[in-house]
Amino acid sequence: MDLKLEIQDSVKKKILLHACCAPCLTHPFRMLLERFDVTAFFYNPNIHPESEYRLRREEVERLSREWGFEVIIGPYDAEAWFDAVRRRGDDPEGGERCALCYRFRLEKTAEAARKNGADLFTTTLSISPLKKATVINRIGHEAAAGSGVAFYEADFKKKDGFKSSTRISREEKLYRQDYCGCVFSMREREKRRRPR
Ligand code: SF4
Repeated sequence: MDLKLEIQDSVKKKILLHACCAPCLTHPFRMLLERFDVTAFFYNPNIHPESEYRLRREEVERLSREWGFEVIIGPYDAEAWFDAVRRRGDDPEGGERCALCYRFRLEKTAEAARKNGADLFTTTLSISPLKKATVINRIGHEAAAGSGVAFYEADFKKKDGFKSSTRISREEKLYRQDYCGCVFSMREREKRRRPR
């Protein structure tokens, strides 16, 4: 192999990693770092209320400072998110509302990846045992179509990925929420808490 090709091969590809929160970012970030030059992208206008959004964003920013990686913060366009999922508020978690929510965030991630010169993009969402990687990956590929940036398929919960994320989160003393993020999942949590 000539020197030029060898150098090209040794340069890691750039990946933009959509991060839903700091605990979910931990394990996927470490995994991807072995193969890629990773930048995180915090884009989660689904999170309600705004004080909770700020808390999760600040934890991602804290982790980025402590671990020394770059994080791009997307806008908190909550109204546009509500428009995207309108009339699906009663769907159970994991249903059609969630598919619309994944699409909303992944389309923006594809756009941000293109603007920032990334070769690929992916998301931490599949680390959750409550989220189906097949649905996330299908939507990821659809979001990539026509963007000029490829989607990197993953199921980060595999091989004890979720367990690893909870362990690292404990070590890093990260804030861990007990609901997915939107107002609907917050209400579901309240229902679960009510005494029967
Ligand atoms: S439950 Fe989670 S994934 Fe589903 S719509 Fe709400 S924030 Fe999005």
